Amino acid sequence: MAAGSGYERSMSLPDAIPAAIAAARRRHGLAETDPALVLPAYQGRLARLPAARRRAFARHLAAVISEAFAAPAAPPLRPEPSVTPGAAALAGAACGCCRGHCCSRGGEHAYLDADTIRRLRWVESGLGRAAILARYRAALGPESYEGSCVFHGPAGCRLDRALRSDLCNTFYCNELKRFLRAHAEPPSRTVLLAHDGTQTRRAVVHRASVAPRP
Ligand code: SF4
Ligand code: SF4
Repeated sequence: MAAGSGYERSMSLPDAIPAAIAAARRRHGLAETDPALVLPAYQGRLARLPAARRRAFARHLAAVISEAFAAPAAPPLRPEPSVTPGAAALAGAACGCCRGHCCSRGGEHAYLDADTIRRLRWVESGLGRAAILARYRAALGPESYEGSCVFHGPAGCRLDRALRSDLCNTFYCNELKRFLRAHAEPPSRTVLLAHDGTQTRRAVVHRASVAPRP
């Protein structure tokens, strides 16, 4: 994923960001004390997924499957981050607002490696090469963001979490990590602002749902 992106290098927040946060707070009736999370803003262009990119992905997948089948199945190498359901919901909303900046370097490999395939076989013993190939091929859509990961579509990642690499399943960008570290339980209202280093592209409010009384 795109840690250390150009966005992060230019993270001295432009003056326009505080104004955009204030405007979003006013628009949604939020108080000055409601926190804001400034995120990257992915701005790719959707296009048909070219046959050459499909072939390149198929080659990569065939290679990692071969490598994986040369060794026993194995559990995930990286545990999923331990976050509360509320924090996971906030992270989902943040990634939706950003639209997947960190997927932009997924190219034709989608960060899939032999460890991903070993983990798949560990979870589902007896899963053969042809079935694995078929699952990934079926997940490719007719279009994806130009130059981004082949699975990066308008609704986010097209792969089920079970098929994603450990990296994809565990990655939080620095902006998100810092915010979650500072708020173990997400605030009731958070302004999410997607900024591309030049201008604010999207601003939404995430409202934490109140847990039902027992
Ligand atoms: S982790 Fe989420 S918010 Fe951060 S860059 Fe990736 S998609 Fe965007
Ligand atoms: S597989 Fe999904 S989560 Fe991973 S880089 Fe591609 S679109 Fe992003």
